[in-house]
Amino acid sequence: MATERAPGTPLDLFAVEDARRLYGVDNWGAGYFDFSNNGNLIVRPVKGEPHTIDVKEIVDELVAKKVSLPVLLRFPQLLSSQVRELCDSFNRAITEFNYRKPYLPVFPIKVNQKREVVEELLRAGRRYNLGLEAGSKSELLVALAQEQSPDSLIVCNGFKDANYIQLAAMGPKVGKNVIVVIEKLHELDEFIQISKKIAARPRIGFRVKLYAKGSGRWEKSGGYTSKFGLTTAELIHAVAMLRSTNLLDTLRMLHFHIGSQITEIRKIKNAIKEASRVYAKIRKMNVDIEYLNCGGGLGIDYDGSKTSSDASVNYTIEEFANDVVYTIKDVCENENVPEPTIVSESGRALTAYHSMMVTNVIADVGGSPPLDLAFSGNEPQVVQELQYIRTSINAKNHREYYHDALEKRDELFTLFNLGYLSLDDRAKGEMLFWEIAKKAVKYGRTQKYTTDEFEDLEKQLSEKYILNFSVFQSTPDHWALDQLFPIIPIHRLNERPTRQATLCDITCDSDGEIDRFVDLKDVKEALEVHPLDPKRPYYIAILLVGAYQDVMGDFHNLFGSVNEAHVTVEQDGRRFIRQVVKGNSVAEVQRYFGYEPETLATALSVMAEREAKAGKITDKDAAKIVSDFRAELGKYPYLHLNGG
Ligand SMILES: *Cc1c(COP(=O)(O)O)cnc(C)c1O
Repeated sequence: MATERAPGTPLDLFAVEDARRLYGVDNWGAGYFDFSNNGNLIVRPVKGEPHTIDVKEIVDELVAKKVSLPVLLRFPQLLSSQVRELCDSFNRAITEFNYRKPYLPVFPIKVNQKREVVEELLRAGRRYNLGLEAGSKSELLVALAQEQSPDSLIVCNGFKDANYIQLAAMGPKVGKNVIVVIEKLHELDEFIQISKKIAARPRIGFRVKLYAKGSGRWEKSGGYTSKFGLTTAELIHAVAMLRSTNLLDTLRMLHFHIGSQITEIRKIKNAIKEASRVYAKIRKMNVDIEYLNCGGGLGIDYDGSKTSSDASVNYTIEEFANDVVYTIKDVCENENVPEPTIVSESGRALTAYHSMMVTNVIADVGGSPPLDLAFSGNEPQVVQELQYIRTSINAKNHREYYHDALEKRDELFTLFNLGYLSLDDRAKGEMLFWEIAKKAVKYGRTQKYTTDEFEDLEKQLSEKYILNFSVFQSTPDHWALDQLFPIIPIHRLNERPTRQATLCDITCDSDGEIDRFVDLKDVKEALEVHPLDPKRPYYIAILLVGAYQDVMGDFHNLFGSVNEAHVTVEQDGRRFIRQVVKGNSVAEVQRYFGYEPETLATALSVMAEREAKAGKITDKDAAKIVSDFRAELGKYPYLHLNGG
């Protein structure tokens, strides 16, 4: 397969406009992110307002305040902007289509359980009656204790035992509109048992298994084989059970969820059509269902391509809201039943934009500088032949000569293994080969079409920038799901990035590498970056990490949660670092895994004293070892290097 190359721009000219195009910020930034004329990444957290936050300035300020990198920047105003975007879209659709019932947003806590995030969403969502969704007992305990607007909901999903249902029953007693969504028939048995004993019972909903499936990575969450929900036969049986126990008036919600990040609007429409029909049919069985809950699935355009590829969505929030409202209305009119209050559990859409992780590049590897190996002219023939290829390769013959070089390289290793070559000769041969490869790639780029072979080679030749973070802690979905996130330098965006690199983290795991990057047409295997300057730090941001990443991260290599700063911009344009939240210290991470840091320090001091007693080290050394050890326990586990 061959891909056409865009004609190159002259090397010396590179403006912020070019960086915008190169990194696609206008495509995935949703109007929240942009580059300033002096080449820095900026955030515009309040839609429609001109005030911006310069990310490089924030990082400089944090570093000056001795907040170490990596740091997660949260922009709480971005959360409110997205709440507004979602709710206004639904409210506009409701007005436009003359829909008679309201829209109620519900935030699924599992998407980002951080207290600050949940509190900010509730604050911003108060005037829209934003509620919470819990998927477990611990999430329910969090939800029950939040101040919510009186008309908002708490929806309880996930598998439940009697204890979970009893907890939910507390809700009405403290003024909460709790709805327990029954996922399985045995949960209904529990509910009926408990209802016999208590007066204030929570209202319930049924999660239905739809025939319609989602699209994208979470397709399995929907459809008949999904883990959750009641089949049609179970649904009918469940209604009968409620009727026979005089509890039918507790059934108030129908719920479905066909997966997260649904990439195609067509799939959403199909699911809503089916769910609306189920709603209408149940309504006609004289059941007063008040809410139709469409679950999550509203996706984010991570790569900015506006397509149905996994990292994108082929619709906007506005289109989503219009389709949901219109479809439900259409089916209800057709079936002649009252319209339900519409609920959605859109988590990703509310939170993805609001945070980014910024960190520094520690070093580059690969693209090794030419070593000073002196050629005597008496090298073995295979080395001399590689030398010849290096000097005579050109635009016309580059493919053929590169293939010759591949053959010579094989020969080089065969001869070495047989004992015919010295280590010196092998080093010279290897070095020549990589120089030839670089030239071949360079000539390959001048051709109208590049082949897969040269694209692969280019990837092999791309450098690795070592980034001070852990993929497993900060971007787990990159590792687990190949999820794409926009990644860009936060400064020097008015300089041409002349290098291409993949990004390695500092864990000792070879999976700890980012080698897939956002590209409008495809997925890039290397990111355009600037040459490192030993005199100043180079900062890179991973954006749109506000959904799921915060909470799925793990402690691989005992790297813990990262430092956080919450940044806002005021009406007068001044920006504030409102809060700095310390990440885990070494000791904290150790404790998660059963080590008691003080015990470790004591054990070490016993060893040091033993060595001191034996006269192998001085008492002073022993004391210093122990105090250094203790000091390190309280520190940040990431690397401390220049600029961070
Ligand atoms: C995860 C989940 C959600 C959130 O989905 P998003 O795609 O993030 O909006 C909503 N509802 C249920 C039942 C879920 O499991």
